[in-house]
Amino acid sequence: GASCGIVGLPNVGKSTLFNAITQAGAESANYPFCTIDPNVGIVEVPDPRLTKLTEIVVPNKVVPTAFEFVDIAGLVKGASKGEGLGNQFLGHIREVDAIAHVVRCFEDENITHVAGRVDPLSDMETINLELIFADLESVERRIDRIGRKVKAGDKEAKQELDVLERLKAAFEEGKPARSVELDEDERKLIRDLHLLTIKPVLYVCNVAEDGILDADNNPHVQAVRKQAAEEGAQVVVISAKVEAEIAELEGEDKQMFLEELGLKESGLDRLIRAAYDLLGLITYFTAGVQEVRAWTIRKGTKAPQAAGVIHSDFERGFIRAEVISYDDLVEAGSVAAAREKGKYRLEGKEYVVQDGDVMHFRFNV
Ligand code: GDP
Repeated sequence: GASCGIVGLPNVGKSTLFNAITQAGAESANYPFCTIDPNVGIVEVPDPRLTKLTEIVVPNKVVPTAFEFVDIAGLVKGASKGEGLGNQFLGHIREVDAIAHVVRCFEDENITHVAGRVDPLSDMETINLELIFADLESVERRIDRIGRKVKAGDKEAKQELDVLERLKAAFEEGKPARSVELDEDERKLIRDLHLLTIKPVLYVCNVAEDGILDADNNPHVQAVRKQAAEEGAQVVVISAKVEAEIAELEGEDKQMFLEELGLKESGLDRLIRAAYDLLGLITYFTAGVQEVRAWTIRKGTKAPQAAGVIHSDFERGFIRAEVISYDDLVEAGSVAAAREKGKYRLEGKEYVVQDGDVMHFRFNV
């Protein structure tokens, strides 16, 4: 599955947020294949379409799709030089698909800020530079290693060197790898470097409990938004403390508490959706009387690979997919009615699965 690592300087609210995530966490019985690790929090991706499908199909069970957050505490200034538990934490970042970077936007005299004052831009720069330093080192090492091949006239090595030099120049200007335009082939050349700064990032502004509704007037949040816009990054504003309280509630209690706070949904739900979008993920459904279930795939995934998310046998033995789009199914009101209207399609192995497709796979065992 896809995962998002939570990073940030000490004392910005990462643990508070991560505790809210594990508290709100999905029941692991539904996701036996997910990692079991104290640093991994599995959450269900909120999707109102599941409610509608449940009304239509009336299944025994409903299973939302899941998403993983990984707590990557301990990133400090100097991590790329091995300060703190530096390298170990950078290693954890290599394993996630995206980064949620928590920045402190709340003032509280009782809670020490590692840099002496609340200054989210400086915090962002500190973390970003650590990641850039680590990437610079990886790139320099690789340049050294392929030097001989380049001299010997190896064409692919020459191409790779060209990409590495462009990355190096960006790093030396303090810019992340994601700011360097690379085509598909160029990306392939450097894939095994597992660069940290090539991963998509979203910034999470942690504001005070009483500051959520008024966050747009928080100068720290404004500064983060401006910087993020320049980087083409997304921003999610939450209050980690409030999220921790919300996570303890369920159903109606949760809804009432959100209403009291003047919120439509929890910050965690907004964060989950933002991370899902950031990674270019979409959802398809299976809808049988036993179970209505949502599944996560990347945009552009073809039918056999989408089937493979359920079980590798489905991919290996794939024959065809029967597909109804969510909208068509809701409009028709039932699978039978959709079929009568000709909305029930047979698709082959080249079919690119769309967000909201309701799928039934035919396969050989
Ligand atoms: P971490 O080091 O980034 O994991 O930060 P923690 O989650 O441990 O938070 C550091 C301290 O800040 C703890 O005492 C939290 O209770 C406190 N804290 C976190 N979020 C908020 C907030 O929104 N408002 C206030 N006043 N304190 C917070």
